[in-house]
Amino acid sequence: MHDDADSAHDRAWRDGHLLVVPSHACIDDLCFTCGAPPTTAHPQRIYWHRPAWYLLLLLSPLVYLLITPAVRRRAELIVGLCARHTAARLTQRRAGWLLIGLAAALLKVAAMLGAVRLMLLTPLVLLAGVTLLTRAGRIVRVRSIDHATARIANGSPRLRAGLPDLHAPYRQ
Ligand SMILES: [Zn+2]
Repeated sequence: MHDDADSAHDRAWRDGHLLVVPSHACIDDLCFTCGAPPTTAHPQRIYWHRPAWYLLLLLSPLVYLLITPAVRRRAELIVGLCARHTAARLTQRRAGWLLIGLAAALLKVAAMLGAVRLMLLTPLVLLAGVTLLTRAGRIVRVRSIDHATARIANGSPRLRAGLPDLHAPYRQ
């Protein structure tokens, strides 16, 4: 299908509301999030595997961890962000690290005071921090990676505007 990765660089399609791009592509002519002129570029390495592989988790998380590197597919994308969304991402990342630091401090204080309830709070604060960091790191959300293309579920509608639809009767 579309596994001509070199010339696929500037090829993109729409598949309903999904943006279809080569799995190694540069999407930095617009802010990925809002479509405004970008000021920064961000590499995104994304892994995806067929959802059925999650069933392995029921068998054993260890087996899942051993098998998924062999069956997962990778996309390497570079996306642009405008000044506003670059700043928002930085704020999110700082808040994430702050919460992780707070969790460590809470644990220390709780241990010193022997306060069990306070100690129980630390995993929640840690989880909130890790969630923020993960969200700051993950700009692009893919639905699937297949045939050297990535199907992207989020991002500005302006990225999809004017693109040929994969299922249209006449393709450009
Ligand atoms: Zn933006």
